[in-house]
Amino acid sequence: MPNLTKIQPEDATNALLGFDNGEEFRVPYLTLRFECPCATCVDEMTGKRTLRKETLRADVKPKQILPVGRYGISIAWTDGHSTGMYHFDRLYEIARKEL
Ligand SMILES: [Zn+2]
Repeated sequence: MPNLTKIQPEDATNALLGFDNGEEFRVPYLTLRFECPCATCVDEMTGKRTLRKETLRADVKPKQILPVGRYGISIAWTDGHSTGMYHFDRLYEIARKEL
């Protein structure tokens, strides 16, 4: 899996994600927020997503993005949610799904 090399705002509703294999993807903020992998959004026992998309604000955006080691980022969102740690592998999967 490629490593994330950049994540930046693309426009009002999309982020631009770049990977070290040269691929770039536009991914809606809402998708990134919905795919949050934290224990609040996904049941740790079953792996089932407990977060429902209709409960998210359509205009949700990252407020702060911080690196986590060499393998991931954490995103603090404008809706106050900040417990999600996104592994690069997971970000790549999310980005590919949006193609
Ligand atoms: Zn979460």
